[in-house]
Amino acid sequence: MVKGNTRFNHLKREYVFPIIEQKLADIKSSYPDAEFLNLGIGDVTLPLAPSISNAIQQAALNMTKPGQMYGYGPSQGYGFLRKAISSHKYPFLSPEEIFISDGINTDIVNILDLFHSSCRVAIPNPSYPAYLDSNILVGRKRKIVWMPCNEKTGFVPEPAKGKVDLIYLCSPHNPTGVAMTRNRLAAFVSYAKEHDALLLYDNAYEAFVTSNDVPRSIYEIPGAQDVAIEFCSFSKSAGFTGLRCSYTVIPKTVTALFGKNLHCLYKIWLKRQSIKFNGVAYPIQKGQEATFKPQGQAELESQISYYLAQAKSLKAGLKAQGYTCFGGEDAPYIWWKTPRKDLSSWDFFDLLLKKCRLISVPGSGFGTEGTGFIRLSAFTSPEVVEKALKQIKNLNLS
Ligand code: PLP
Repeated sequence: MVKGNTRFNHLKREYVFPIIEQKLADIKSSYPDAEFLNLGIGDVTLPLAPSISNAIQQAALNMTKPGQMYGYGPSQGYGFLRKAISSHKYPFLSPEEIFISDGINTDIVNILDLFHSSCRVAIPNPSYPAYLDSNILVGRKRKIVWMPCNEKTGFVPEPAKGKVDLIYLCSPHNPTGVAMTRNRLAAFVSYAKEHDALLLYDNAYEAFVTSNDVPRSIYEIPGAQDVAIEFCSFSKSAGFTGLRCSYTVIPKTVTALFGKNLHCLYKIWLKRQSIKFNGVAYPIQKGQEATFKPQGQAELESQISYYLAQAKSLKAGLKAQGYTCFGGEDAPYIWWKTPRKDLSSWDFFDLLLKKCRLISVPGSGFGTEGTGFIRLSAFTSPEVVEKALKQIKNLNLS
């Protein structure tokens, strides 16, 4: 018999989304005509911006013409897109240091190919679940150090005590919806320099940053270019959750020890990508390029403002009803504290589903420090926010 990878047996956390789907299916079978308000999964709801759609269509159309067919592309991504990213967002870097991919999720889990199995890893608690699962799957179950993100820490992590090698950071943070200020991030850059550690900076929600003291890239922090890899996604910023496009930045100054020799990680990642990845579709990369043109920028700004407006109304509405919630200023998520100590995340989820017909995500699904919270997503419309707040009012729990 072929032997399976037993590390899959170590994936013990609660997989909330299938449970949510089951609970929803159960309640829908009892109330088939009821309308459910979805503030659960963080997926975009607005239509694709016209300039992106046009660029994708045009690219596909051009491929029908002789001599304009695009087959296998470069695994690092086409130069036109890497140049657009470097000139708009990282003028201090070269296109060689930028790698196009089909989503941050892909690169965040695959980046682990680059590191020795002995590396100790710090992960925020709660956090995006792929950080933990991917480390367990590469055999790092006993090498994980948690960085709590709770009321005491302001819902973002603080550098771990003692020595770790890899540090996951996500700012604005999913699920708490709180972003790290310049000072908080600078503490991690100092830690990384002092301890020869590397920051794996998940920047999925950069487009939602509005606060002046919150950087939009880790490289705004002096010294970060030596110690940080940044992952940026077009999923939430440009509606690419289904189209799939993202990029990873590995400055030439980021290095690691391979045996006795120091190597630049961008070269090792290039090697890894050329072995294991065949690139993102040409029309999708053309669509992505359109996001850097003036029309694309204007369309996306208006989409981001729309989602942030829902976050603002949701948070203000909950606070006006006496509830305690966090986040939502620089992120499309609200982190809502359950109104009574005896209500767990799942109890509160069930109550909102049954009494308010509202779908949320229990905070405990993102880590133990998420217990006692639920996450609401602002990827929705003003109508849904208004209805949700009205239905929550009937709960009378605050
Ligand atoms: N990182 C965080 C924090 C996320 O919230 C998400 C998606 O929800 C991802 C990564 C995955 O993004 P992508 O769609 O680019 O794979």
